[in-house]
Amino acid sequence: MGITAIYPGSFDPVTMGHVDIARRAAAIFDRVILAVYDTPAKSLVFTTPERVAMATRAVSDAPNISVRSFSGLLVGFAREVEAKVIVRGLRAVSDFEVETQMALMNRKLAPEIEVVCLVTSLNYSFLSASLIKEIIKLGGPSEGLVPDFVAEALQHKLARKGEVAPVPRWLTG
Ligand code: ADP
Repeated sequence: MGITAIYPGSFDPVTMGHVDIARRAAAIFDRVILAVYDTPAKSLVFTTPERVAMATRAVSDAPNISVRSFSGLLVGFAREVEAKVIVRGLRAVSDFEVETQMALMNRKLAPEIEVVCLVTSLNYSFLSASLIKEIIKLGGPSEGLVPDFVAEALQHKLARKGEVAPVPRWLTG
């Protein structure tokens, strides 16, 4: 038995900020399911299988973290996998507003499931998936912010869309 927590999000793509939250949750709960939302209300760079594959690789060394995709209501998926807890990450006051609203709605829908927010680690407080996409699009460095294979995948994706700027001189020396 034990407590299962789900950590839902778009993960487009997974960043070290996400990995940090997933690992910290895995130190508290018996198992963590990183739940990749199939159809978020935002435009995606990666397909669902791609987002799942990258997240799976990013947490592959953590035995009690698994990755699954889901569609439909989050609380529906939480009930399906018998999760008692939904984990979310908090970076700034702006996150707080969104997360509070979502947590209250989820509690209305499923009062038996508790939402637990973990505060970001300082190193990742400024990090978001959309910012990473912007940095890579503009040819900037992303070391320590996303796994290397994520940076590579983003470069390929954005290049195929004709969006990657040439690598600047200062970067190549
Ligand atoms: P969303 O669910 O809005 O699509 P994401 O997939 O980007 O969000 O992120 C999923 C969860 O991880 C959210 O709770 C978000 O606040 C949190 N998160 C994202 N980046 C970080 C970070 N750098 N540090 C801590 N938490 C983060």
